[in-house]
Formats: sequence, structure tokens, C-alpha cells
Amino acid sequence: MNAPDRLAALPAAPPVAAAAAQAAVEVRRASVVYPAPDAPVHALSEIDLTIAQGEFVSLIGPSGCGKTTLLRVIADLEPISSGEVWVNGLTPQQARLARAYGYVFQAPALFPWRTVLANVMLPLQIQGRPKAESEAVAREHLGRVGLGGFERKYPWQLSGGMQQRVSIARALGFEPKILMMDEPFGALDEITRDGLNDQLQQLWQRERRTVVFVTHSIAEAVYLSTRIVVMSPRPGRILKVIRSTLPDERTLDLRDTPEFMALAHEVREGLAHGHGHGPGSGHADE
Ligand code: ADP
Ligand code: MG
Repeated sequence: MNAPDRLAALPAAPPVAAAAAQAAVEVRRASVVYPAPDAPVHALSEIDLTIAQGEFVSLIGPSGCGKTTLLRVIADLEPISSGEVWVNGLTPQQARLARAYGYVFQAPALFPWRTVLANVMLPLQIQGRPKAESEAVAREHLGRVGLGGFERKYPWQLSGGMQQRVSIARALGFEPKILMMDEPFGALDEITRDGLNDQLQQLWQRERRTVVFVTHSIAEAVYLSTRIVVMSPRPGRILKVIRSTLPDERTLDLRDTPEFMALAHEVREGLAHGHGHGPGSGHADE
């Protein structure tokens, strides 16, 4: 199909009139095949997923099931082989150019020769914002992740958890509409992770920014999410989407409640189901 035909064939793109109810992310029948010299890798197969504004959606699934690929597809870091992706009614590329995304990687990726403040200021300065303004914004966001007072430290003087908070402050600096987080706490010890989960939950409660979050941890997914997307081993498919029954306002002691345990159980069952014990439910959208 040539380009004009393809455009003509697109289903009604999310209409402008529906802006208020416009989905933050719409993924339709999206597949990704990585070319490889021996056999191509089918990383994602026919993904259908709609994320509403302000949702906190976690992607959970075994290693190599395509979680990172899906994040990268949404954030315009990876092209799809077929299907469609819309972000706030725009193509991922348009959304990226409109600075819709903040991206937090598993490793903090901070520059060791720059102070904490200078690391958070960097993307703002690259954007061409004046230095004084960049500094004010950076200080504000460091404060929001509980790092007021650490501006003049260097990354190597901070713990892993604090470094990851610096990356979160950096991602939030230009007020992205969507925060993309790829196993941001995966390398941290459990106690540190608990603390950061709690902070991230509070941040989300305050700002209601759309978050797409990748994790291996069932407890983390259940604690943080409004919906949990369970993915199958490669080629990544959506097996199940679980809507949280927990209240939006959460504290860590919620993890001892029967509701929390029931949700964790449901996620675990979904994951086990994907490991070759019969087909998934196949209903990605509820
Ligand atoms: P996850 O984040 O769930 O661990 P990924 O999205 O990183 O999974 O990878 C999905 C699959 O695609 C894996 O089998 C991985 O080896 C493969 N893959 C990822 N990136 C590439 C690439 N650039 N080229 C070829 N294969 C890739
Ligand atoms: Mg990954």
C-alpha cells in the first residue's frame, strides 16, 4: 500500500472534538519484527491496548517478552512492523516532537562529571531554556522527589535509589504528558524499592500524569497500577488486562490486605498461564 492509500485506509483517527476523552495511548494490532541474519525476531504480536489519560499502567511479563519494545514503540524509539500507534491523537513522532514523553531507564544514566542539579538542568538547557529558568525548574523537581539539599552533590556520591530519583526529576523536568518507566527500580534492594514505590505512588496521586511502567515485580505492579497488562513470552502478546480494585490513594500497608493479595494472585495466574499452559484469554481490552 502506498502512503496516500495507507492514510485513506486509516480508521477515523481520534477526532479532535473528543479531545477531553482522548486516549493517552492507543495501540492497534501492533507487531514488531526485528530483522536478524538467521531468523527474524517476532518481539510483539498484534498488540491492542488503550491507555486513558491519567492512568498508571504496568506491563509485566517474562524477560524478553517485548515490554521494552512496547515502551519504545509508544515513545517513537522503535518503528512498528504493522499496526497503528496514537499518542494523544498524534503519531508517536509528532508526540515526541511535542515533548510528550519523559523516559526513565533501568540504569540512571547520569553524567558523573555533572552535579545532580546540572544533570537535571541538561535536557532543559538542550531545549534552549534560559539557565536561570532551567535551574529553577530543576530545583523544583528535585524537591518533588525529595532531593532538595542534594543539588551540589555528584551522582557517585548518592545511593542507587537516590540516583534513580534524580533520573525521575530529570524526566519530569519538562512536564511530559506521559511518563515512561522501564524497570526503574529493578536494580535496587527491596527496602529502597518500597520507599520509591511509595514516593512514586504519591507523585502520581498529586499529578495524575499518565504513566506506563515496566516491571518484573508482581507486588510493585499491583501496588502502583490502575491497570496491569500481563504479557506472554515471545512473541509478546497481551494475555490479560487486570483493573485494580484498590483505592487510588495507597500506602504500603495495603499490601497485607486480602484485596491486594487477590490481585497479586490474579497477576501470578496470568503469568503462569502464559508459560505454555494453554492459550491466554485473548481479551486485551476489557
Ligand atoms: P523485555 O523488555 O520484555 O525483556 P525486549 O522488548 O527488550 O523484552 O525484547 C523482546 C525480544 O526482542 C527479545 O527476544 C530481544 O532479544 C529481542 N530484541 C530486542 N531488541 C532487539 C533488536 N534491536 N534487534 C533484534 N532483537 C531485539
Ligand atoms: Mg526490558
